[in-house]
Amino acid sequence: MDLLTTAYDPGEFRRQGHALIDLLADHLDKVHQRTPAAINYQAPNDALAEWTARLEEQPQAAGDLFATMLDRSVQVHHPHFMGHQISPPVPIAALAGLVGDFLNNGMGVYEMGVGGTASEQAALRLVAKSLGFGDGAGGFLTSGGTLANVTALLTIRSVKAPTAVWTDGAREPLAIMVSEEAHYCVDRAVRIMGWGEAGVIKVPSDEHYRMRTDLLEDYYQRARQAGITVLAVVGSACSTAAGAFDDLNAIADFCAKHDLWFHIDGAHGAALAFSPTYEHVVAGLERADSVCMDFHKMLLTPSITTALIYRDVRDSYRTFQQRADYLLEWEAREEWHNLARRTFECTKLMIGFKVYTILATYGTDLFEQYVTRVCDLGKAFAELLRRQPDFELLIDPPCNIICYRYAPAGLDDEALNTLNARIRQTMLLDGDFYLLQTSLRGRTWLRSTLSNPFTTKADLEAVIRRIEAVGSELVGY
Ligand SMILES: *Cc1c(COP(=O)(O)O)cnc(C)c1O
Repeated sequence: MDLLTTAYDPGEFRRQGHALIDLLADHLDKVHQRTPAAINYQAPNDALAEWTARLEEQPQAAGDLFATMLDRSVQVHHPHFMGHQISPPVPIAALAGLVGDFLNNGMGVYEMGVGGTASEQAALRLVAKSLGFGDGAGGFLTSGGTLANVTALLTIRSVKAPTAVWTDGAREPLAIMVSEEAHYCVDRAVRIMGWGEAGVIKVPSDEHYRMRTDLLEDYYQRARQAGITVLAVVGSACSTAAGAFDDLNAIADFCAKHDLWFHIDGAHGAALAFSPTYEHVVAGLERADSVCMDFHKMLLTPSITTALIYRDVRDSYRTFQQRADYLLEWEAREEWHNLARRTFECTKLMIGFKVYTILATYGTDLFEQYVTRVCDLGKAFAELLRRQPDFELLIDPPCNIICYRYAPAGLDDEALNTLNARIRQTMLLDGDFYLLQTSLRGRTWLRSTLSNPFTTKADLEAVIRRIEAVGSELVGY
């Protein structure tokens, strides 16, 4: 057989596919039982050397490669995975992803992805409703919170700027207001648009790392006096490092008063709206003009799957153009299916089908149970940490992001910063638990996102004991 015939042979595919699913299912089983370690860290040059050497030995069996990749990756399904804000994907969504990868329908135009486009839009409408939006709401899925925020800011510029920037270029200084704790991509998006440093007005945060909404009026007036036109306020739900939620109702009131656009960067935390127990944390979310929400962070979907939802879907047609209203009206009714008109992507993965498959299989109940479970874990972890004399908690965690540090008596901040960074480094190499560190207001904190629904209280106690053991050894007790 020639190579092409071999590569596309249905029998070979069936054999490899069955073997792969068996491998993944066995792996999931093992990981749930806490073997192997949560992370198998290799130094960058060692990893590169290994993968380079492998490539020189062709051909290799796909099964061996797949098994090696499982071993050399972070196990997000591991109950000791307490690191980045990423979901352990629910297996059915990974299978839907395989279907999408196999079909490879580009979706740039409707006819090149009929099922992909329609399933995405059906899922998105259900999601918008679940977040509390009305019938006029809509949007699309795009590739990540970063891209969704850039897209939203471009919409804001088209809708709210006093002149037609899309056709004529920027004629006056424009700005948005955002918490100083916001994800860096908001700042970056503003600079990409060419508004420079003055285009992002950073409002200070309070002792709970929430935007000081009491300062909005003052910052707004000062910008106006400086000749800057403020178009919008971006609320963080939540901020990435500390996991703090801005007061969305207060921002909505302020935006209504000054006719500003209200965008929510809800990449991580908008998902709390799915949980009756935690939806109060995002009260006011449905008053936003636009919201971005990552499905790969809190909604069990493989990366990268992000919704950008507009309260009035007609606005989504204005991102890349400035046109008469009757045309927008027509597009909103008739052109919902040509997604590339509204997204950065031309060719796009069938990401919507993953979300659709989760919803069609388990309904929004799965999201509700998951969000509630991991936020409960956040509370439980905070409760345990509060009871440890040698630990400090940054804030009462509103969701599943927790910042804490090992802080035995007698060490100043500088010593504690070094100590916690070394604890984290030791634990990374050791691999049993995966956690992160972050720096806030000059202090280094350990940071965990509890995103595994199978993490138990015993796991949380175990990580505390482990940090304590590593930490006390480093201090030399
Ligand atoms: C993670 C995150 C982003 C970036 O989203 P990606 O999907 O990683 O591009 C933006 N904003 C906030 C608040 C986040 O938590």
